[in-house]
Amino acid sequence: MTNESVERERRVLARIPGGAQLLSKRPEQFAPGQWPRHYSRAKGVYTWDLDGHRYVDMSTSGIGTCVLGFADDEVDSAVRDVIANGSMSTLNCIEELELAELLCELHPWADMVRYARSGGEALAIAVRLARAATGRSTVAFCGYHGWHDWYLAANLAGPSSLDGHLLPGLDPSGVPAQLAGTAFGFRYNRLDELEAIIAEHQLAAVVMEPIREHDPEPGFLPGVVELARRAGAVLIFDEVTSGLRVNTGGIHLELGVEPDVAVFAKAIGNGYPMAAVLGRAAVLEHAQRSFVSSTYWTERIGPAAALATLRRHRDNSVGTRLTAVGAAVQAGWRAAAEEVGLAVRIHGIAPLSHLRFVEQPQPSVTLFTQLMLDQGFLAGGSFYPSFAHQDEHVEEYLAAVRTVFAEIRA
Ligand code: PLP
Repeated sequence: MTNESVERERRVLARIPGGAQLLSKRPEQFAPGQWPRHYSRAKGVYTWDLDGHRYVDMSTSGIGTCVLGFADDEVDSAVRDVIANGSMSTLNCIEELELAELLCELHPWADMVRYARSGGEALAIAVRLARAATGRSTVAFCGYHGWHDWYLAANLAGPSSLDGHLLPGLDPSGVPAQLAGTAFGFRYNRLDELEAIIAEHQLAAVVMEPIREHDPEPGFLPGVVELARRAGAVLIFDEVTSGLRVNTGGIHLELGVEPDVAVFAKAIGNGYPMAAVLGRAAVLEHAQRSFVSSTYWTERIGPAAALATLRRHRDNSVGTRLTAVGAAVQAGWRAAAEEVGLAVRIHGIAPLSHLRFVEQPQPSVTLFTQLMLDQGFLAGGSFYPSFAHQDEHVEEYLAAVRTVFAEIRA
């Protein structure tokens, strides 16, 4: 670290509690002193730090947002058009209707759409509507769903109930104790755990990602649909991370299961803040009465970016390309590890690929990150490809991985 970056870090920590707005961008998430904390420019697959170093991003393409690549020309051009014509008005923008129609065309089971600007916020809307529609309070969930009270309520009972998603040192302080007993977690592929929650509680909603880091076991997803239906609970699929990866829409479309509500954020705006809650009229129409309203949910940049992203995604079969790139990287990790006798575990669908080192997992991934930075790559234990990743990026990255795996093994 240069003296300048040490001083900058001190200023950040003095003014920004935790050092970042997002847990995964906090200083403690990065290899100490190595991973550049701030960027000056991001374009395509490249990111430049404040000192002008250029890196190829082989990590999460902006925490899963820039599925088309950073600063995609077509999306940016659509955004510039609406900026030129006023990104905000006293009136509603027409793009929100066009986007709602496109989302319902892509998801024929859905009737209506509301918007927010982040995933956690959109999930809070979905849960609010499920509670309004059922007249019940309790929620069963699987996995991570953001920072809102409905979800963190699960951690009031004990630190294990959020499936390990709270970082060490974080707790649900600030969440009203009265919410204890309103949210319960179950593990992926554990229908028995969901059944046990349903046996004890009248559920408003079951909230889950249709796919997490591992494949669904046969019968698991249809089992969830059936259990939620019989319990009279609203089934909410969180597609914040899984959406727009293998297809232009929710991954549930590929898995042959339909929820009552699906929530999108991250990739839907390709780097511009946007989130959508789409669902059956029986649930969504409660947004007419239930208090779900915010000024900037009516701005125009998010819907324009989402429309351009979805169209470009669909026109170029981006899901197919992301799957191919992710599969090539998974195969490359496997081959490189076998070559040097390094024990790794690879999991996740191809466009959301994860790499774990079996021995000394944390120090090994830290070392991997540091050595890859030296080779010009931002790379850690996750790889979420974008449409901007060309075959040569993958080849250069895998050549570096082979060198670095050998160093880790040594
Ligand atoms: N749901 C899932 C599955 C996520 O991965 C995330 C963020 O990582 C969220 C919800 C929260 O979304 P946001 O960070 O946009 O509030």
